[in-house]
Amino acid sequence: MIYLRVLAVLTATLALAACGPQTSTVSRAAPSPTPSVSPSPFEVEPAAIASPSPSPSPTVKPSTKPAPKPPTPMDCTGTATSDRTQATGTGPFGTVIATGSMDVALTFDDGPDPVNTPKVLDLLKQCGLKATFCVNGIKVANARSVIERIHNEGHTFCNHTWRHIRQLGSYGPDLIREDLTMTNNAIRSVVPDAKISYFRAPGGEWTADYVSVARSMGMTSLHWHLDTRDWESSQYGKGSSMVNHIINYVEGSCHPGSVILMHDYQKPDTTEALRTIMPWLKARFSVVALPRDGMASP
Ligand SMILES: [Zn+2]
Repeated sequence: MIYLRVLAVLTATLALAACGPQTSTVSRAAPSPTPSVSPSPFEVEPAAIASPSPSPSPTVKPSTKPAPKPPTPMDCTGTATSDRTQATGTGPFGTVIATGSMDVALTFDDGPDPVNTPKVLDLLKQCGLKATFCVNGIKVANARSVIERIHNEGHTFCNHTWRHIRQLGSYGPDLIREDLTMTNNAIRSVVPDAKISYFRAPGGEWTADYVSVARSMGMTSLHWHLDTRDWESSQYGKGSSMVNHIINYVEGSCHPGSVILMHDYQKPDTTEALRTIMPWLKARFSVVALPRDGMASP
């Protein structure tokens, strides 16, 4: 098929990249420094080639290493008290950037990640919050149980293309439709009755074709109000400096109605920041998954 040939060429010439536009409202984006590449299926686990260990000596004492400290439970008991003004308006090509109400929406892109997304789901459960997950179809096969959890725990799916090719929006409606269909099919191969009512362009690089194809497939084109830029380690560093950046940005900029962009694929600093952000948000806003049946499309 033409599409598969195009994909093959692109795979050879393009690096996969996480989302990350320049600002919360501008659609063009710099390439991400972090490739979103799935682990090679050909890697060999060291354990699989290791020689059998000798039997332990009877003189060896049991390990006295202390068990790792459990993380401090989050205090998610606050009630909404924000007096900030409501976020309104639309993004590029009329895309959705706000919930249309006082509710705030957390959205996570580029997953599912078999390691990190379950940690995000655990935190959401601990805080009693729901979110929206924008999924790359190619990553589903490696994290099928994560897709099940997203569905069963009451969160909302969003299509984020098959493999995050940032130029896909310029390839014409037929290739866009084929890509988006493959991605929905991957999700529904795990959860056959999944509602997939949202689409988000990789990198926020929207085109009119994206929006019209998504609409014809029953999907709302979803941009964002706040971009945490949690992928931009060249600017914000890693570890505590990135964690602090994400926390400070969300706490400083979130309004009722904000759609917040974060990433769950290989972003442990984002997960750590959520331990602070979730209770903070819950004390000030109603935090929701976007409605599974979609919103008024642009
Ligand atoms: Zn993305």
